[in-house]
Amino acid sequence: MNRLRQANPRLAGLVPYDPKYIPAEVMLSANENPSDVPEKLQKELARALAEVPFNRYPDPLGNRLRDAIAQANGLERDWVLLGNGGDELLFDLALAWGGSGRKFLDMPPTFSVYAANARLTDTTVVSVARMPDFSIDEEAVLARVAQGDIDYVIVTSPNNPTGKLADEGFVLRLLEATDALVLVDEAYFEFSHRTVRPYLESHENLLILRTFSKAFSLAGVRLGYFLGHPHVIREFLKVRQPYSVDALSQAVGQVVFDNRALFQPGIDLIVEQRGRLLEGLRAIPGVEVFDSDANYLLFRMENASEAWEYLLEHGVLVRDFSKSPLLEDCLRVTVGSPGQNRRFLDVLRDFCLGKH
Ligand SMILES: *Cc1c(COP(=O)(O)O)cnc(C)c1O
Repeated sequence: MNRLRQANPRLAGLVPYDPKYIPAEVMLSANENPSDVPEKLQKELARALAEVPFNRYPDPLGNRLRDAIAQANGLERDWVLLGNGGDELLFDLALAWGGSGRKFLDMPPTFSVYAANARLTDTTVVSVARMPDFSIDEEAVLARVAQGDIDYVIVTSPNNPTGKLADEGFVLRLLEATDALVLVDEAYFEFSHRTVRPYLESHENLLILRTFSKAFSLAGVRLGYFLGHPHVIREFLKVRQPYSVDALSQAVGQVVFDNRALFQPGIDLIVEQRGRLLEGLRAIPGVEVFDSDANYLLFRMENASEAWEYLLEHGVLVRDFSKSPLLEDCLRVTVGSPGQNRRFLDVLRDFCLGKH
């Protein structure tokens, strides 16, 4: 017998998420930290990992790390939820606040994972497109939520891939205009230094997402967290995979979080380099670059996909959005080490000056 019953027909129009992660000498495509965890922590990490009993299930909620994150944010444990990367928590959000007959308000162009999760969970996606400069169409969002049928909204701040923070006054107005759950995705918080954390206690419908993948050099480990009201967090406990955060991730996350001050010089360097990269891109004729509060820069140019190819042929991988809706002709470059940034600028300049 060689037969197979079809998968859920809902999957027919979907394509698997493709990070377009091609090995290259200079990896500037995924907003990762250019540096691995500091040398100083390697011994401590090895010790922590050696103590993990592989035969035992992990603590389902990772309470030790949960407590450390709660304390750092002036909260109790039940305001924090760990996830297998921020991505898992985003999926849990679609499971818990989305579903058939429910609506998610998206603000494209933004992180494409949100709309993909909504589609998978049969959630209706209501899109309010950003303005031509990629700022949020605030009045349109407020008018749309005023209709009263939106179940959850995601405000990405800074927005990926466009780079800028959402206006804090707008987030406040949004929180007050709706009973929808409002997730503020602060995946790049450590580079922007701005957070809506001060509004958490006073706004039941506010949820914040953070990750260890960007500033804390742990993209390979998969660790992220929500900050939210205990009864919001409790709803997520119903949908989450019980052991999603494995014991190794908990152990590594604990060491990194306890020593997070060691990452500050690296973060400061990235922010300083972001300014140089911005200036460098501005100086290349034919390139329009968008300012950023995160660790990446979006830029627009003619022949963007040819430029992407040329960069790759010269060992530099950036992210190609040139065929993505609302991001035509755009590429995104992650801020790397000073040498990587110089190399990227040199290759792109050569391409633009027609030396190819
Ligand atoms: C990177 C990122 C995340 C989470 O990434 P994880 O590696 O899954 O923690 C969430 N939101 C945005 C906008 C991101 O760019």
